[in-house]
Amino acid sequence: MSTSIDRSATQASENVWEMAKHQLDEVAQLIGLSDAIHLYLRQPKRVLEVSVPVRMDDGRFRMFTGYRVQHNMSRGPAKGGIRFHPDVTLDEIKALAMWMTWKCALVNIPFGGAKGGVICDPKAMSMQELEHLTRRFTSEISIIIGPEKDIPAPDVYTTPQIMAWIMDTYSMQVGYSVPGVVTGKPIAIGGSLGRDKATARGCLYVVDEAMDVLGIPIEGARVAVQGFGNAGMHAATLMAERGYKIVAVSDSRGGVANSKGLDARGLLVHKLQTGSVVGFAGGEKITNKDLLEYECDVLVPAALEKVITRDNAPKIQAKIVAEAANGPTLPEADAILHERGVMVLPDILANAGGVTVSYFEWVQDIGENFWEEDEINARLKQKMTRAFRETYEHAQRHNVNMRGGAYAVAVSRVAEATKLRGLYP
Ligand code: NAD
Repeated sequence: MSTSIDRSATQASENVWEMAKHQLDEVAQLIGLSDAIHLYLRQPKRVLEVSVPVRMDDGRFRMFTGYRVQHNMSRGPAKGGIRFHPDVTLDEIKALAMWMTWKCALVNIPFGGAKGGVICDPKAMSMQELEHLTRRFTSEISIIIGPEKDIPAPDVYTTPQIMAWIMDTYSMQVGYSVPGVVTGKPIAIGGSLGRDKATARGCLYVVDEAMDVLGIPIEGARVAVQGFGNAGMHAATLMAERGYKIVAVSDSRGGVANSKGLDARGLLVHKLQTGSVVGFAGGEKITNKDLLEYECDVLVPAALEKVITRDNAPKIQAKIVAEAANGPTLPEADAILHERGVMVLPDILANAGGVTVSYFEWVQDIGENFWEEDEINARLKQKMTRAFRETYEHAQRHNVNMRGGAYAVAVSRVAEATKLRGLYP
């Protein structure tokens, strides 16, 4: 068997799967990972592609394609969201699954990494069509999911209602209620208090830590947020409550900015009423491109991948980039930001609050014992703060950026578990 790594495909690339492998290759060298473990971790453990037939409201029959990828399960069952988006690709899901492995290891929860997705345009589908799609997709992937095997969660354009349908479909198949099969569910069926804002809250906790390390006062620090969905809208409101000043926000339709500050609560109401932040009266119209380059102290990309590139990285004015989204920064942009002294809080740290409270939700479901929100937030803060400090220490020790530090912690943990378990048979 070959244990050599083909690095020809590992150049910084716009393909997110190549990007994910490139990031692993870099840390492998940094921490002296053995070639055997490196080779093992470079591949997903399992990839499932499914065809999902759906009867649409007008009676037409359509086929959708979906995926579930399990990257690594050395530290526990696989965990990761499900994305409904027209641009979903298998490579994207493989990258997101690998990132979940590192994320769970970084915050030290006993899960491996997985991700799922369906190529579809949920905005153009009715609730009934979405329900049919979700239920059939769940049924197709039920051969590999389960509370001890692989636990899905929400991601882009998937909601607590969609999680409820996943829970119900799985439960109907086995014949009894299994709340622990999915997280991000509504509270009424075993969801956790605090899960809806957990990604954003975790992001806030690590930004607070970064501000402290860099000696920047929080009160009045200017924040720009790209994407105003689950991660972005709660990040904006929680950061505003904490004393930060939200100066720009955007969603898929465009953005709005005001250097004197935007009313985060008002924005939330406007978004919920109109479906977009565009047209909000308290600011001027900007594009998504402008938003990334807007004058601010903290930039929070909270939409999709690959938005910070070699072209806009030199123009980013923030001192901290907190990656609420997965994979927003291309490797060449990462290097430019590091050289310019911008602290990038990597996705596996900055958005790990979501999976951390998902873990709490799963623990509560399995134990049939539910906690108060204060307790959940306190436990989240403890995990996020520790992960930040470990990341920072490793970044300093290896003289690398925060992504390098986070990967050094996470990949070492997964490598240790993989090595201890050995090879079966
Ligand atoms: P969401 O569907 O709730 O929101 C996505 C937001 O991004 C929407 O406001 C949408 O309008 C906006 N958007 C879409 N395309 C855009 C574009 N081209 N430019 C600007 N904005 C655009 O999704 P979410 O759950 O908030 O996820 C956002 C990111 O956060 C994703 O990368 C996801 O993987 C990551 N994330 C989410 C969670 C979570 O718990 N929801 C956890 C970890 C990571």
